Amino acid sequence: MMDISVTGQIPAGSIVVEDASDPSDIRLRLASDHASTMRGGYHFRVTGARGQAVRLRILDVRDLEADRLAGRDGYEDAWTNTGPHVSYDRRDWFRVPGRVVGRDYVIDHVPASDVCYYASWAPYPLDRELDLIARVAQSSRVRVAPVARTVMGADVDLLTIGEAGPGKRTCWIIARQHPSESMSGYFLEGMLPRLVDEHDPVARQLLDRAVIHVVPNMNPDGTRLGHTRGNGAGANLNREWADPSPDRSPEVFAVRAQMEATGVDFFMDCHGDEELRCVFLGGPLEIPSRTPWLASLFGQFERALMAVSPEYELGHGYPGGPPETADLRMAWNWVAERFGCLGVLLEQPFKDTSWATDPVRGWSPQRATLLGHSFPAALNQVVAHLR
Ligand SMILES: [Zn+2]
Repeated sequence: MMDISVTGQIPAGSIVVEDASDPSDIRLRLASDHASTMRGGYHFRVTGARGQAVRLRILDVRDLEADRLAGRDGYEDAWTNTGPHVSYDRRDWFRVPGRVVGRDYVIDHVPASDVCYYASWAPYPLDRELDLIARVAQSSRVRVAPVARTVMGADVDLLTIGEAGPGKRTCWIIARQHPSESMSGYFLEGMLPRLVDEHDPVARQLLDRAVIHVVPNMNPDGTRLGHTRGNGAGANLNREWADPSPDRSPEVFAVRAQMEATGVDFFMDCHGDEELRCVFLGGPLEIPSRTPWLASLFGQFERALMAVSPEYELGHGYPGGPPETADLRMAWNWVAERFGCLGVLLEQPFKDTSWATDPVRGWSPQRATLLGHSFPAALNQVVAHLR
């Protein structure tokens, strides 16, 4: 019999292999982000196991839940009603079931190929993102410039789509502050090509009304390293917005400065959520300067998104109940408060929506891409009302 190998030493890989000597009890552990204790995502390769039953045991995931779900009683954990994304070719990702046994997460699978990848969600590799940016950069509508340099020296790209002008609104969309939430990458793969499609009437009308600034990846270091949430210095960028540091969170520091230069009328921050079973939007409802006008504008945006995509449903409340006051260290809250504008948090599920489940793929790259393709039509419905 061939030897089986399990490794996280692949691009954007993340796993600690404790013992892979027994295929019926392969013992793994979640890897912490560099310079941080943040963990939760995983992405690894199993080689040489075609036709053989393997049991992958990710140890002690319950420890993680205790931190993350503190104060959220009765809330479904990240490991229930789901399973990893699995692929033989790194293009088509399907699910196999996983289950919690004791303190561990257990995946039983018989790979159909000697090369098999497992991930908490289909990765969106940096290479694919660079290809996407290069492709849309060829549009005459788009300018690309570095807006920041990461802790480890990578460029954070800013795409400016359309042109600012008198009476035009300024929209900002950022993604991937948290690298493991890779559905944001697929979302942009639907959104960006639509915005540069000269035959698309929605894109044309939207860009007549607004200029759109997009940061496709706030955290390229974390993406490259296969991080769950941290940047190259171990910072959770979505807790840095109130007081970013040029050393520890230069990505946020520079993007915030650029926002001060352009102003902001609409902001959306694209994330993924491990526990939710819906697409979730957070609005500027708890910020100190909240107004009935902002709440109504947010409701208008929610209805617009629902009208263009059945993947979004009204009525899914803030996970675990809304906070009494907004956490202004988070991007959507900080931007909404600073600019008095519609700041939105988008959470796509790791699992699936509860009302339109796909038993084969769950929430998938395909659906994330189509949601991104729908989004400009929703923004176009509210863009005239943003001031
Ligand atoms: Zn996130």
